[in-house]
Amino acid sequence: MTTEAIVIIGSGPAAHTAAIYAARANLQPLLFEGDVGPTAIPGGQLMFTTDVENYPGFPEGITGQEMMARFKAQSLRFGTRIVDQSVIGVDFRVYPFVLTPSSGGRLRALSVVIATGASAKWLGLVNEERLAQRGGGVSACAVCDGALPAYRNQVLAVVGGGDTAMEEALYLTKFGKEVLIIHRRDQFRASQIMADRALKHPKIRVLWNTVVTDVLGTDYLTGVRVRDVETEEERELAVGGLFVAIGHSPNTAFLEGQIDLFPTGYIRTMEPWRTSTSVPGVFAAGDVMDSYYRQAVTAAGTGCMAALEAERWLAHQGLGESPVLETAEAPAS
Ligand SMILES: Cc1cc2nc3c(=O)[nH]c(=O)nc-3n(C[C@H](O)[C@H](O)[C@H](O)COP(=O)(O)OP(=O)(O)OC[C@H]3O[C@@H](n4cnc5c(N)ncnc54)[C@H](O)[C@@H]3O)c2cc1C
Repeated sequence: MTTEAIVIIGSGPAAHTAAIYAARANLQPLLFEGDVGPTAIPGGQLMFTTDVENYPGFPEGITGQEMMARFKAQSLRFGTRIVDQSVIGVDFRVYPFVLTPSSGGRLRALSVVIATGASAKWLGLVNEERLAQRGGGVSACAVCDGALPAYRNQVLAVVGGGDTAMEEALYLTKFGKEVLIIHRRDQFRASQIMADRALKHPKIRVLWNTVVTDVLGTDYLTGVRVRDVETEEERELAVGGLFVAIGHSPNTAFLEGQIDLFPTGYIRTMEPWRTSTSVPGVFAAGDVMDSYYRQAVTAAGTGCMAALEAERWLAHQGLGESPVLETAEAPAS
């Protein structure tokens, strides 16, 4: 079994930023970018969007896929070894830690950065996914996409009833001419203060007891079909943007029982402004430990922090000088 100085799990902005820093610190990182799955692909959430306009350094904007190709190229440039597999199991009760890749086999790691991100929850409608992937007027992130020209002066719809849905709806009032909140119950789950703010806003209208049953449009969203769950009555609404705000699931199932998680599944970090976790030598970065900001730039920022913390932790253990204990070979893909 090979022993790596640092293994980075994930492939979004957090993982690749951690890899760039770790590689430039001569730690020879091994990065598992993950298998292709129904809700995750190598490159992370930005692979599901078109234009990224709020990442500094790209004044003209850049597509999510191009941005992640550049992150990956920069990781590779400094010597990161990238494996196209997921990590499906970890044993943090032993040291060096033991990791199980999806292809089988096992490897040891002196330090680990977990940057497996989160997956936005979708309604599960066929056209929803198709239009979301092509930037066709369906999004899971109003803060990311709401300011795009296509949404200006449109009737916009937000699905959800929690704090995120309220925040997204309020944010969208800056751009849309009207914002509809479509909620399946007769009251919000959101905190009272957020619900009040949304309910009082003159541009926001709530459709209670209503679910979206279909997303309409071939190349671009033209509207949604909704059903009143009390009367069973169905109707079509013309909307120019659909924002699904029904929550995110952190990708932490493979960590169960190995590390402290919040009840929501997000990784608990031990101190504010640190990426250290309940297991010394294991660090967490990006959306997997941040249910609040959930932006590419904050994910990249915490990726940098995790790599610096890992480097210092290894040095403190006397492992900084000669980190790779055996010839490290990536598992077969
Ligand atoms: C539709 C949409 C549009 C967005 N637009 C913007 C925007 O314009 N600007 C912005 O700043 N933010 C945007 N965001 C948010 C941004 O994408 C995230 O905040 C950011 O990608 C989080 O980065 P991350 O590195 O934490 O993880 P992620 O991007 O979530 O990537 C993690 C990846 O790790 C891999 N992985 C998961 N589990 C494993 C495992 N067990 N083993 C190995 N690999 C694994 C998967 O490939 C996964 O996708 C958008 C999000 C969405 C959904």
